[in-house]
Amino acid sequence: MPRSAATAEASRARPEWTRARRIVVKIGSALLAERETGALKRDWLASLVEDVAELVRGGREVVLVSSGSIALGRHKLGLPKGPLELEQSQAAAAVGQISLAHAYQELAAQSGLTVAQILLTLGDTEQRQRYLNARHTIETLLELKAIPVVNENDTVATAEIKYGDNDRLSARVAGMVSADCLVLLSDVDGLYTAPPAEDANARHIPLVTEITDEIEAMAGDAGTELSKGGMKTKIEAGRIATAAGTHMVITTGKVLHPLRAISEGSKVTWFLAKQDPVTAKKRWISGQLEPRGTVYVDAGADKALAAGKSLLVAGVKRVDGAFERGDAVVIRTLEGRELGRGLSEYARADAERILGRKSSEIADILGFEGGPELIHRNDMALTRK
Ligand code: GLU
Repeated sequence: MPRSAATAEASRARPEWTRARRIVVKIGSALLAERETGALKRDWLASLVEDVAELVRGGREVVLVSSGSIALGRHKLGLPKGPLELEQSQAAAAVGQISLAHAYQELAAQSGLTVAQILLTLGDTEQRQRYLNARHTIETLLELKAIPVVNENDTVATAEIKYGDNDRLSARVAGMVSADCLVLLSDVDGLYTAPPAEDANARHIPLVTEITDEIEAMAGDAGTELSKGGMKTKIEAGRIATAAGTHMVITTGKVLHPLRAISEGSKVTWFLAKQDPVTAKKRWISGQLEPRGTVYVDAGADKALAAGKSLLVAGVKRVDGAFERGDAVVIRTLEGRELGRGLSEYARADAERILGRKSSEIADILGFEGGPELIHRNDMALTRK
C-alpha cells in the first residue's frame, strides 16, 4: 500500500481541520478487512492508530466509529460470499466485534492509548433519555483520555431498528458529542460529479457549502458487499452532521496514515456546516422541541444563567409538567417570565426531591449519583431579551 500521497507542495489543510478540537473518525469495513480472506489489515490499522495518537498529543479529542465486525466475522464462521441473512450478519458481527475490539486495544496500547468499546443501536441515538446516557459515557471517556470506539450493536439490531451503515451512525455520534469535524474514511477520495468508476469525465469536488439536489444526484451508487454505505449514505451523513454544526470531510483511507494525510493537504471533499455545534443545538432546543414541563428558578439562578452558567438544582424552586430525563423544559422566573429552554438532566419526580438542595446532598436523597446541574449550559437556549 502506498504511503500517504501528500507531498511538501500539497496545499495546506483547511482551518476546519487544523482548528477542530473534537474529531469523529469513521472507518469503513473495506479499509479494515481483506476482501478475499476477511483478515484484518493490521499495518493499516496500526498507522491509523498512530495518527490518532498524534492528534491526541496535539490536544485533540478523537472518537472512532469503526465498521468491520461483519466483514471480519463472516469468514471466521465460514459464511458464503454475497449478501447475508439478517441472522447470519448478526452472528458474524458477534464474532467479528471481538476481533475488532481486540485489535484496537492491542494497537492503541502500543501508542500509549486506552480504547473503550461503545455499541449503539438506533434507539440510543434517537430517544433523548438514552441519547443523554450515551453522550455522558462518551464525554466521560474523553475526559479520562480514553478513545471511544463506536459501532452499531449489530447483534441485536434488526432491520427496522437499524442504521445499517456507519456513515449515518457516525454523523449522529458527531452531533451527539458536538464534534467540530467528522472524517469519513472511505475507499474513494471524495465526491465526484459522477461515479468515477463509470464516468471518465467525472470531476472531483473539493468543497460543498450546501447539499443541493444537484449534489444528491451525484451520489448514484448504493455501496458494495463490504461497504454498506455508498456515496448516498455519505451525503445523508453530510446532511446530519452539518445540520448539527459539524463539518464533514470525505477522504480515502486507502493510504497508510490517512489522518496525517489530511493534515498534509491530501485530496478530500469538505461539507461545511454553517454554524458551530453549540449554536445548532440551541436552535434545535428552542425551535423544534415540544417542552414537557416548566422549571421555576430564583433570582440567583436567573443571574447565573445570564452569565452563561448551567442551571443548578440548588437554584430551582418549583417544577411543573410530566417531563422525563432528556425532555425539553421551559425555564421561568418565579414571576413567570420565560428565561429560556433546555434539556432536563432529571425526570420531574427526581427533580422535585432535590429542588433547592446542595450538590453534596443529591446522591443521598436519590440513592444514585447525579450531577448538580438540572440543565447543562450547552443544553440550554436562553430567550433573547
Ligand atoms: N456495523 C457494520 C459492521 O461493523 C458496518 C456497517 C457499515 O459498513 O457501514 O460490520
